[in-house]
This record gives sequence, C-alpha cells and structure tokens, in this order.
Amino acid sequence: MRRLIVANYKMNGDKKLFASIIKKINKLKVMDTKIVLCPPFVYLDEFKIKNKFVSLGCQDITIQDNSKSTGQISPKMLAEFQVKYVIVGHSERRKLGETDAQINEKVKICLNNDLLPIICVGEEKKSDKLDLVLCQVERALENTSKDNTPIIAYEPVWAIGTGKIPEPSRIDRMSEKIRAKIKDLGYQNCIVLYGGSVNKDNFSEIARSKIDGLLLGGVSLKIDEFIAIVKGIDNE
Ligand code: PEP
Repeated sequence: MRRLIVANYKMNGDKKLFASIIKKINKLKVMDTKIVLCPPFVYLDEFKIKNKFVSLGCQDITIQDNSKSTGQISPKMLAEFQVKYVIVGHSERRKLGETDAQINEKVKICLNNDLLPIICVGEEKKSDKLDLVLCQVERALENTSKDNTPIIAYEPVWAIGTGKIPEPSRIDRMSEKIRAKIKDLGYQNCIVLYGGSVNKDNFSEIARSKIDGLLLGGVSLKIDEFIAIVKGIDNE
C-alpha cells in the first residue's frame, strides 16, 4: 500500500535550513511512499521540488475568495507555486478560535480549487470521548462531494509536541472509527494519517497501526531523522 508522509514545518525554518532540506529531499529515492512538504507561505518559492515522489503543501488557506482580504492568501496564488495539499483545521489553529464551520468552508474552498485538504482532527485530553473526533470529521466534510477521498490526520492534541504518544491500539481504534464514519457519510475511500510526537524511535511501532501514513511536526526540521523515517516506512 502506498503511504503518505506529510511534513508540517509550522512557523519554523529559514532560507538556509530549507535549502539544505530541499537538497536532500530532491535526492531521496523511495519506492512506494508519497511525501508532502508544508512550509510557511513565505518560503513556498524556496521549495523547487525535483522529485516525483514529493509534492508541495501549505498550512492553511483563506476563507474569503475576494479582493477584500488583507493578509490572506488565495487558492490562485497557491496554484502558482504548485501547491497541491493544504493542512486544514490543525489544532494550533483551532486553539486560535477556528471553528468547525470555518474548517468546513476551507475544505470546500480547497476542493473547489483542485487542492487536497488534509483535515486535522483529535481530542484535547487523553480522557476525552473519542466520538468528539468523529463529529469533527463529519462537520469538516459537510456538503462536500462524495467523489472525493478525504484525507484525515488523527492528531490527539495531547500528543502534539509533548513526546507522548497513544498506545497503538488507540490509534487502530480511532483509525477504524474514522474509516467507518467516512463510509457512513457516503465516501468510498479515505486516507487516515496519524500525527503527534512521531520520531525515529517510535515511528515503526506507530506505522504498524491501521494508518495510511504520518503527519510529522518537529521531526520534519531534522532532515536526516525525517529521511530515516520516510525510508523506514517505505521499506515496511
Ligand atoms: C503537528 O503539529 O501536526 C505535529 C504532528 O507535531 P509534532 O510531530 O511535533 O508533535
């Protein structure tokens, strides 16, 4: 099965670091893994990707699709940089007040503009009811065409950047619940990723769960570790 690995650089990096990352990424050979790199908007132009396994993504998209949007980035601008994927509804944006309704708008804007949304969902606390996550999935996908293959990144908020990860059985359970929910909603297929504190020591245990890939945050900035994870997943 083809795996998907997404790098979320968040508000990190600079021209020098990204130049060194791109140099190594362009030489990377994989057999069956797709890689998506999501830099901050201002660095999109630095990402001259010359590797057929690698695509460009970004970390958010604007809701308004008109000219009265100071400070925003339009889908047309993203297309000029060959952006294909957009992270939508990351917990760090939900914390800033982004609502399920806004996330749904963003998903629709992506789909209407040939961009693939990577929809982030996840419970805040380990003790939270997991059905909350399914509500996030349902609300994000409201009124979207059933011909799409939703990409859902299950990212427990308590695992992001904390060094804590869920037991693989919890990831399996969530992945199964998300797949069942998406099927119930009428979609034929979906891609389920896991994200939250993945590193070179824990990725292979996590990758044995019923997931289609990973969303990597902090470790994406350590290019050798990132490549080791990509190659490890590719060889599984
Ligand atoms: C993230 O922020 O999406 C993420 C997965 O971060 P980290 O890997 O650093 O926990």
